[in-house]
Amino acid sequence: YTGPVGSGAGEAAVSFEDVGGLDGYIQSLKEMVVLPLVYPEVYAGVGARAPRGVLFHGPPGTGKTLLARALAQSCAAHGGGQEVAFFMRRGADCLSKWVGEAERQLRALFEQARAWQPSIIFFDELDGLAPARSARQDQVHTSVVATLLALLDGAGERGQVVVIGATNRPDAIDAALRRPGRFDREMRFALPGPEARRRILRIHSRAWPAPLPPADEDAAVARTQGWGGADIAALCSEAALAAVRRTVPQIYESREKLHVDPRRIAVGPDDVREA
Ligand code: ATP
Repeated sequence: YTGPVGSGAGEAAVSFEDVGGLDGYIQSLKEMVVLPLVYPEVYAGVGARAPRGVLFHGPPGTGKTLLARALAQSCAAHGGGQEVAFFMRRGADCLSKWVGEAERQLRALFEQARAWQPSIIFFDELDGLAPARSARQDQVHTSVVATLLALLDGAGERGQVVVIGATNRPDAIDAALRRPGRFDREMRFALPGPEARRRILRIHSRAWPAPLPPADEDAAVARTQGWGGADIAALCSEAALAAVRRTVPQIYESREKLHVDPRRIAVGPDDVREA
């Protein structure tokens, strides 16, 4: 399937509500990317230049892919009758052992994005597709990088297409990608501060029967300093498993399928501590 996706293909839909602590970035993406695609005449009318490409970078598990998926969802649901098509690719998945195949597919992707414009192409793990010169293993990468650069530069032909790339290591991607007209804006995803961790904790404990009492929430926020969003998501999932273990231990022994009412499984502070 190569058409645009509404969310991460095959994955549950996520919205901006599912993204914690990145409100500023959500706002900038709407302002810098989505609205200029939907209202190009307004932006051109006031002489505002929309970016052609945005690079997300920062440590693993800080919400880069999550934010892109939420953006995809918001594009599909955009008001004003104008949808923005969203194409998502993992960098390394674009590569091929067949000579010239990766380049052909990249050209096809950009062509399709142009056919569906306004549209956004998201490359996750961009370093896998366009590694820095020093990190390239062979000639194949060099040719793929050259193709990608040419496609990014094809200003006239590119139309209303914005390209977003994500990487853990911005210095690991080819430096030429970061020149003006290519990925000319960057968003750095830092590890979340206390308030962001609180938001992320609440997002991932939304399904619990009751929110954590304030003192326990404070304790969890304090103890997760230096953690990323993915770590906090894992903590919440572990706590839920601990609650299942505690509430219905027989689930592990029973040979028959038990009827378990999930509302009985009250995930609480003890489970978070255990996790
Ligand atoms: P990588 O660089 O490894 O691809 P990433 O920055 O793209 O990492 P994500 O894949 O977005 O990280 O995060 C993994 C999971 O962690 C998300 O699916 C989500 O469950 C959780 N998560 C990460 N950041 C946040 C956040 N800011 N708010 C809510 N959940 C988050």
